Amino acid sequence: MIETATVVCRDGKIVSVGNAELPEDAQRIDLHGDFLSPGFVDIHVHGGNGADFMDATVEAVATACLAHAKHGTTTIFPTTSTGSPEQIMAMIDACGQYQQLQTGPNLEGIHLYGPYFAEDKLGCHSPSGRRDPTPADFNRYFATGLIRIATCAAELPGSLDFYETAKRHGCLITCGHSNSTWGEMQVAFEAGMRHVDHFWCAMSSITSLRQRFPAPMQASMAEFVLMHDEMSTEVLADGCHLAPELLEFAFRMKGPHRLCLVTDCNRALDLPPGNYCFGNPADNSWFYSDGKVGWTLNRKGLASSVVGMDHMVRQMKNSTTATLPEVIRMASLTPAERAGVAELTGSIAPGKRADFVVLDQHLQVKQVFTRGERLF
Ligand SMILES: [Zn+2]
Ligand SMILES: [Zn+2]
Repeated sequence: MIETATVVCRDGKIVSVGNAELPEDAQRIDLHGDFLSPGFVDIHVHGGNGADFMDATVEAVATACLAHAKHGTTTIFPTTSTGSPEQIMAMIDACGQYQQLQTGPNLEGIHLYGPYFAEDKLGCHSPSGRRDPTPADFNRYFATGLIRIATCAAELPGSLDFYETAKRHGCLITCGHSNSTWGEMQVAFEAGMRHVDHFWCAMSSITSLRQRFPAPMQASMAEFVLMHDEMSTEVLADGCHLAPELLEFAFRMKGPHRLCLVTDCNRALDLPPGNYCFGNPADNSWFYSDGKVGWTLNRKGLASSVVGMDHMVRQMKNSTTATLPEVIRMASLTPAERAGVAELTGSIAPGKRADFVVLDQHLQVKQVFTRGERLF
């Protein structure tokens, strides 16, 4: 944290940070004591303001991206849910078209999240869109060059082929919606898997593994992530998915270099309570938003979040011992590093993109900049 500094930007990039002289013709923005934070980087996000990325139109992609930019996200990785091959290709195409427009927050790539989930860990995703990975299916997604983050449940037949392909494409490889054992995680790790989606949510635990292997009790994804320094993970710090002690535990065990804040936010962001579709409306997968979090329609399970990254930052700051720079790191530089875009963005450093969020003393968003242009 630097007090009273000047950040000079030119042509959308940061030129200097510190006490540099401002050029005569520079446009000056005085923040009057507010914080200048790197723009947030969200590696797991489904939609916002009525749009789900799986709606698969450029308009839907732009709507969801802008909705999250309002909450401080300047780099976004639209995330697929389960869906037919046609639905997933359409989503990737729409994101590719949005990327060409070069407006709004930066779409650095896509998180191929569904469809390769375990049947017993589907959560709110539609079962009809779930399947095991096959090269005939996933090769065409990777061939677009847009997939930067790739999720597959480690226990599925074909997962190793998937991980090897994802590795060739330089992706962050992650295991999620999975009931895999330590042994399955070990094999996946050797193939390049280094991250686990939303820790404690839709992942194996010692208890859930007893449904697959009654005895002896098996170590799960949780123990694997906690014991391996190379493994990173993410938490849903909306205050509804995980109690404060779990946020503190994840932070203390993994540290700010291995723990990411994600929104995992669905289309109900910034909309009133009510029933909404998860993923593409054609799949008819409904959830209920109470305005704070998504629920399955029977109100017995959670169905992803409905808040933006600024909320996660405030929650993490208020309910853990993480310092403000550590919290900001988990919402910016750490996800940027894990997704392989830290040379472009994720911190306020010369040469990086001028992506900023201005926060007041209560960490409320006051201004948002991408590539040096003010968005909000
Ligand atoms: Zn999920
Ligand atoms: Zn998700």
